[in-house]
Formats: sequence, C-alpha cells, structure tokens
Amino acid sequence: MVETNPFDVLADETRVEVLRALADRYREAPEDPFLSFSELRRRAGVRDSGNFNYHLGELRSRFVADTDRGYRLTNTGISVVTSLYAGTYDEGDRTGPTKLDETCPTCGEPLEATYSDSVLSIACPNDYEYQNVLPPGALADRTLPEAVDLFAVIVEEHVELARAGGCPKCYGRVEWSVTEIPEPTPAYAAACDRCGIRLTVPVGGVVARHPEVLSFYARHGIDPRDRPPWTSTLSTGDAVERVADDPPKFRVTVEEGDDRLHLTLDESATVTDVSRS
Ligand SMILES: [Zn+2]
Ligand SMILES: [Zn+2]
Repeated sequence: MVETNPFDVLADETRVEVLRALADRYREAPEDPFLSFSELRRRAGVRDSGNFNYHLGELRSRFVADTDRGYRLTNTGISVVTSLYAGTYDEGDRTGPTKLDETCPTCGEPLEATYSDSVLSIACPNDYEYQNVLPPGALADRTLPEAVDLFAVIVEEHVELARAGGCPKCYGRVEWSVTEIPEPTPAYAAACDRCGIRLTVPVGGVVARHPEVLSFYARHGIDPRDRPPWTSTLSTGDAVERVADDPPKFRVTVEEGDDRLHLTLDESATVTDVSRS
C-alpha cells in the first residue's frame, strides 16, 4: 500500500474538509477534540457515506486517529492544517504599495511595503529594498502595516535559527559563508544542505541580536524591537567594513553618540572579536 502523503491530502477537497472539521472541533473544545463518524461526515459536508469512508481511510492513522472516543487529528494532521492556514502553498493576493511610518536607513524617505507572490518587500523610492518570503496566512486577518510588524519578528527569528545552525524552513543544517552574489551591501548566505534554501543576511544583520549588541542597546535605553532590519543601519553597508580578503573578515560598528561597539566576523559569520571605543 502506498502511504498518503500531505500533498495527496491537500490535492483532495474532501480530505481537506475532514482535516478542517477536526481542526475546528479542536479549536471549539481542546479538551474534547473528538468527532463521531457521522458528525465528522456532516461537518465535512459529505453526503455519500461510502465516499466519505474511503477518504477517511486514506487519512486514518497518519493524519487522523481513530480512538474509542471518536476521530481526532494526529500531530501530523495538525501540521497539515497549520500549513494550510499559513497559506504556505498559496501565492496570496497582491497588496500595496502602502506607506509605512518608518524611514529608509539610507536616504531618509518614507518606506513602502508591497506584497506580491508570497514575498513582502519594503523599499524606498530611491535606493533601498528589503524583501523576504512571508506566507499569505500572515496577511489574512491583518492590514499590511500589521503584517510588517509581524514580519520583523519572523525575519529576526529566522536569522537566529540559522545562527544556531538550523534551517528556518526544514530544520536541516545550514552552513554560513560570504555570499558570492554581488550585493549592494556585503552579506552572508546561510545555505541549507537539505532543502537548498539560502537565507541572505547583510553582514550587520547577522549581529543584530548578538548579546553584546543587545547590552550596548540596553545601555543606551534602546529597544532593539523598535529597530526592524529595514530601518537599521546595520542592514546597510555603512556600518560594515571589510578588514581582510582571504579569508574574508568584516568589522561591524554599532554607534550611539560617542559610544561605539565593534564586532569582527570571520568567513563563516562567527564573531571572533568584540571591542569598544
Ligand atoms: Zn532610501
Ligand atoms: Zn532547509
């Protein structure tokens, strides 16, 4: 027997409705997430009992557990439903451009957000663009500026996850290297050896949540959450100096008034030296 995979589940409307019905039940009654055969069939909107039984059979054990108290989602079934709600496999509607309250770290003009083909782009009219993938589920119940606030947390989390060696998409291992692709600002790439995703991070962005940077900000009463990557000078080339070529090394300077913090990063984005001046 060929086992049903999540893509077979998503390709069939009846199976998707069964998973949605069980997810709705779980939301209504988390302590009693079970549905009987007939109730599940009713909620999934399937009239033909034989047809329903066939599809339920395809979901059983891997996605739906058949217990003494009724049917419920397995953890794998919950994962399929959450990716469905995140809209991971949809392209989403084009939204924007919408002006943000934030200004460009390079020229000071107001930044604009645009959402298209699952990519959120934050750009100024002149010289700056920051973009990354954001599943459409993030915009479903939010305005574009609200989604931008959430996006700030998501991208920082992705960088932190990759800093810990984990792929933010498939949790495989990532390797850091200086990106060979010419960038307007020097950048690292964190490449996953399993799914092949490459996360490109400006050199300064790598240390945006480094403990020394966070304590520097704390000394100056700055909340780093008020500085998303697209407003921070750490994301532009200005804060970064290339101090060696073979192998490459960079020095990032975080500046507040007369106080400066310098961090040196090697070719694999590891901080090798920290100093103040
Ligand atoms: Zn600009
Ligand atoms: Zn991966």
